[in-house]
Amino acid sequence: MNIILLGPPGAGKGTQAGRLVEKRDMIQLSTGDMLRAAKTSGTEMGKKVAEVMDRGELVTDEIVIGLIREQLEGDKKGGFIFDGFPRTLAQADALADLLAECGETLDAVIEMQVDDEVLVHRIVNRAKEAVANGGAARADDNAESLKVRLMAYYKQTAPLIGYYHAKGNLTSIDGLASMDEVEASVADVLG
Ligand code: ADP
Repeated sequence: MNIILLGPPGAGKGTQAGRLVEKRDMIQLSTGDMLRAAKTSGTEMGKKVAEVMDRGELVTDEIVIGLIREQLEGDKKGGFIFDGFPRTLAQADALADLLAECGETLDAVIEMQVDDEVLVHRIVNRAKEAVANGGAARADDNAESLKVRLMAYYKQTAPLIGYYHAKGNLTSIDGLASMDEVEASVADVLG
């Protein structure tokens, strides 16, 4: 089973993906994590995307599609969870092609609905917690980048809600509920 978790920054996609990995042996494909890893390891691509990411803008479709393509070639286990990808209509079309090429299907798209005020609180808290635990906050977890990230979501990613609704595989769930309740809603969708 291959699924997409769709929702704005801070919606809880990563948390739910982590639970699916544990419970269903699925593979989490987070383009955000892959890009941060490239940034940290200092690859050419990492250097190229660093500033764009820190500002909160989207990196090019070409780069993220390339990252996903590489991952689809490996072991498929219990299926893929696409987390933070696709984020544009071009990425959504590319994903459909990539899945078709490897004989896979897209089984569900789960939209996690949350309101902006909660997102801002969650992200500010995530940054504070990281610092309190002796780590560093993500370079893009600040008020200014967050505004840009939210705008990128509404302008470039939210159109995917209509796109997947038209394709017939969209289910929207309440992302404001507790993590366990959200997990139960996800399980209901996946059956
Ligand atoms: P968020 O918490 O904002 O959902 P992510 O960890 O998914 O964050 O992504 C962090 C940043 O990485 C994004 O703001 C963007 O710059 C870049 N990024 C991640 N996934 C994509 C994608 N599919 N297309 C373009 N840029 C992406």
